[in-house]
Amino acid sequence: MDDADLLAAAREALAGLALPDGTPLLEAGTVSGPVVSSGRISLAISITAEDAASFADIRSRAETALRAMPGGDGAIVVLTAEKQSAAKQSAAAPPDLGTGKAPVTKPPVLSGVRHVVAVASGKGGVGKSTTSVNLALGLRSLGLKVGILDADIHGPSLPTLLALHGRPRLGKDRRLRPMQAFGLQAMSMGLMVDQETAMVWRGPMVMSAITQMLSDVDWGTLDVLIIDMPPGTGDAQLAIAQGTDLAGAVIVSTPQDLALIDARRGIAMFRKVDVPILGVIENMAHFICPDCGGRHALFGEGGAQAEARRLGAPYLGAVPLTMELRRASDSGQPIVALDPDGPLGQLYAGMARTLWSALEAAPHTDQKTLKGV
Ligand code: ADP
Repeated sequence: MDDADLLAAAREALAGLALPDGTPLLEAGTVSGPVVSSGRISLAISITAEDAASFADIRSRAETALRAMPGGDGAIVVLTAEKQSAAKQSAAAPPDLGTGKAPVTKPPVLSGVRHVVAVASGKGGVGKSTTSVNLALGLRSLGLKVGILDADIHGPSLPTLLALHGRPRLGKDRRLRPMQAFGLQAMSMGLMVDQETAMVWRGPMVMSAITQMLSDVDWGTLDVLIIDMPPGTGDAQLAIAQGTDLAGAVIVSTPQDLALIDARRGIAMFRKVDVPILGVIENMAHFICPDCGGRHALFGEGGAQAEARRLGAPYLGAVPLTMELRRASDSGQPIVALDPDGPLGQLYAGMARTLWSALEAAPHTDQKTLKGV
């Protein structure tokens, strides 16, 4: 069935459904969608935060109806409470955009995951995704079971970095199975949500989509789940930081940014919601010349480490800017998988070891919950 046929079938499947006030779902001005892209169907219902409980039923009925359609490749229906900002939510109860149940009754959907770690950056283009993937593979090289979720809805790069092809499979229980790549369990928002639709989503909606995505995926038993965060420190990032039960965050920065405001903002954001900073990784720290093999410290040396110390954040290490790393990332063959014993493979494995020690040393709960689901 092509997307146009699926859209017609989706509209038919939703035709009998109505919002709590009786407005037919498809006629409500607060509903965007359904949108179909490559077989995946998405729909968003805009609500106020107070309406979350009363809209939970229609959300799940709409999602069930769409998922039951033959020919579809997964469906997601999200509630978005745009009228209450994420910052305000942090002061009150955790956001409740999913099922509408009270926080205490929320299902431990990540119960098999020992530690959830966010990899974040103050801005885009600093190598956050490259770092997430190679750090995940570094953890894997220690013999750990590792998953990675690309939560960067607006610029998902995991499909490229891990050469993910095809679509995630739906299990008999209607939960998605993560894709397998280089021994990692991998999932990307880019595989689930249409890019153009997601482009207009604001913070709480991104949060809602991500928490549903986390709970819709059967992650199984994992030692670490890495969340490759959307870049920046806006509402979406804050909502994920406060809505997901994070063991901690790793901040990726280029040396010049670390001395500037972006990385500091990232650190401040996690601290604000009591998520420990597990480390700062300096990426593109110095340049390794492909011709002469020389090492050039374009931005001086030691500054980032000193700045991390000043900010009270552990420094995990410096990754050079190299042609080899860029080529490996962009060709879907991460450097740690390609050359685990090479200098970069060893560098990431070393940082992964430090990270793992910090995770295991910290007091943690074995049952991860998703606030907001
Ligand atoms: P972000 O997730 O912060 O937007 P990416 O991980 O997508 O950044 O990296 C942006 C670009 O920089 C990609 O082309 C990637 O291959 C390249 N890159 C990242 N880190 C390095 C590095 N240390 N050396 C060379 N190229 C790098």
